[in-house]
Amino acid sequence: ETSFLGKRYESTAAASDASAAPPAEKYEYQAEVSRLMDLIVNSLYSNKEVFLRELIRHVLLFLSPIYCNASDALDKLRFLSVTDSDLLKEAVDLDIRIQADKDNGIITITDTGIGMTRQELVDCLGTIAQSGTAKFLTALKESKDAGGDNNLIGQFGVGFYSAFLVSDKVVVSSRSPKSDKQYVWEGEANASSYTIREETDPEKLIPRGTRLTLHLKARNPLCLGRDDKGFAHPERIQKLVKNYSQFVSFPIYTWQEKG
Ligand code: ADP
Ligand code: MG
Repeated sequence: ETSFLGKRYESTAAASDASAAPPAEKYEYQAEVSRLMDLIVNSLYSNKEVFLRELIRHVLLFLSPIYCNASDALDKLRFLSVTDSDLLKEAVDLDIRIQADKDNGIITITDTGIGMTRQELVDCLGTIAQSGTAKFLTALKESKDAGGDNNLIGQFGVGFYSAFLVSDKVVVSSRSPKSDKQYVWEGEANASSYTIREETDPEKLIPRGTRLTLHLKARNPLCLGRDDKGFAHPERIQKLVKNYSQFVSFPIYTWQEKG
């Protein structure tokens, strides 16, 4: 079952022939983002002991910013729709859905929030405009200058980029109510660039909002049970959701890919 809410959504964009869709475009990350990604992937948890101690937080760290973003996106939609009811033209509930595909080690988190246009994908996920991450980098530099350790991630968080703590590949497919097209941002750990393309697969269209797909790392030095793919377990996800749902004012549903 790949369709959303058991229903397929048509898009004016997808009505055109998929083979005629423009190819994915490549973008370089802003230098600060590259630095941050490199830190996340290669050095933050190079100390294994710290890593084990931080194991639980590690799990919380990557999921909480993601819930937070989904929840923010829903809040934003709810707020803006008060003055612009057109934003709710797609009659779908405001919620968050999490799917765990344990065979392939993939977690998918879908919200029906405000979504992102193509330009917003570039602005939000290719640059560090937001203060939390900027603060984190400044604190990290100060700590390094002072000979301190790198374990600052828990204090500041790195927002969206925390997805790369556990993922080799992150795919963000998003549809803003301001755009009739859905766009896909795709990035890999250890890469200096990401791509954006139009979503043309009718199976992957969503009515509104954002779908984040995490391709979990098979081997992570911080691993739980050796393998981050193990996070992609419905029971495990359910437990984590329980811890978070109290902070999120929208329903969070979890379900499992049918075998
Ligand atoms: P922050 O949430 O602190 O701004 P993040 O790195 O978590 O920083 O996210 C950067 C930006 O990307 C957000 O401010 C938001 O504009 C956008 N974004 C991330 N996730 C989503 C989402 N699920 N829906 C809509 N926008 C999102
Ligand atoms: Mg955030």
